Amino acid sequence: MEFHIMTLFPDMMDTVLGESITGRAQKSGRILVKSWNIRDYSQNSSRHVDDYIYGGGPGMLMQCEPIDLCFQAVLTDIRSRMPDACPRVIYLSPKGPTFSQKKAETYAGESDRPLVLLCGHYEGIDERVLTLLDAEEISIGDYVLTGGELGAAIIVDAVSRLLPGVLGDDDSAVYESFHENLLECPQYTRPEVYKDLAVPEILLSGNHAKIAAWRLEQAEKLTEERRPDLYKAYREEHPVPEPKKKRRKSAPSA
Ligand code: SAM
Repeated sequence: MEFHIMTLFPDMMDTVLGESITGRAQKSGRILVKSWNIRDYSQNSSRHVDDYIYGGGPGMLMQCEPIDLCFQAVLTDIRSRMPDACPRVIYLSPKGPTFSQKKAETYAGESDRPLVLLCGHYEGIDERVLTLLDAEEISIGDYVLTGGELGAAIIVDAVSRLLPGVLGDDDSAVYESFHENLLECPQYTRPEVYKDLAVPEILLSGNHAKIAAWRLEQAEKLTEERRPDLYKAYREEHPVPEPKKKRRKSAPSA
């Protein structure tokens, strides 16, 4: 899958995404991550990309032109490999709906559709860019960052690990928090006892059915306690099973 990041700080992206699992996925060709420096598309001698805000107010805003020209270059590059590609364009913005595992699954499910991530800086971008690029806004949480780069890295990471072959074991991404609206159950590794703290016995029993039932019960309990919103959605899809009614013994025939 292709990820294109439009940013003023391309080195930041390359540093974060060039390491660990995303770094390996790039080397193996399972993902392509390209950072594009918006400043390279500035048309003025001082290479500035921002200006004062119409109507007044503090700070500066990123201008349409360098972003638009940068995006045209990204499109040309993408279409040199995929002539019919229609990339999904995301502007990282605190004003958008919050990124979620569901969104990551949607993007990963469209892995032949490149993702273009636009990172704002200063006070953000000229609103007209959203129309020009037909971009959707995505926030990574209810707080304000200095730029969109960390958010872009989060999206690339969360989407990449859902792509086949990116994790050592593809099942790792299935049995995880948010899958089917549940948080993951507690997990343990060796040793069996550490500083008097023992691993729950059931996990050492070798009884796979009982272990699976215990894990599900723990995940349900944890989700109900910590994320009632998720638990509600989970229960809508998995209603609590009705307790089995005891069959009444039929009266002996006279
Ligand atoms: N003035 C903007 C506002 O109040 O909504 C905030 C601009 S912020 C200082 C600069 C850039 O950081 C934004 O253009 C955006 O790309 C990025 N950014 C900040 N917070 C973000 C968040 N929660 N999610 C995604 N991107 C964010």
